[in-house]
Amino acid sequence: MSSLLGHRRREFPQSVRKAALKRCTRDSKPHCETCDAELGERTGIIFEHVTPDGLGGEPTLENCKVHCKTCADVKTHTEDNPRMRKADRTIKARFGLKPTRVKIQSKPFAKAPPQRKASSPVEKWRGF
Ligand SMILES: [Zn+2]
Repeated sequence: MSSLLGHRRREFPQSVRKAALKRCTRDSKPHCETCDAELGERTGIIFEHVTPDGLGGEPTLENCKVHCKTCADVKTHTEDNPRMRKADRTIKARFGLKPTRVKIQSKPFAKAPPQRKASSPVEKWRGF
């Protein structure tokens, strides 16, 4: 996701990832903190910002959630992306940024096709 703020994405440091993984581990296996699925190679282990990085979310343990791929995708597409788009719109509106528009040359409409003439006697009678 692009950010108008222009700062680089800040990933979680290894110490935060280790602590988050420890937090969600039961019976020596990590579990998704949203759907409680057991995490492994099949489900993936994703460390996700609760408050998106692009909106000022810090790379801290409090702002980190351990998710499976499915939960991470759901959060990204239903929560993070709409919030980021709204933030971008707000910034663009505040600073009066508008997309550059290229004027498209208009062409006159093509000549209309000739009117269809009634071919059968019934159509002639009905006035089609
Ligand atoms: Zn999950």
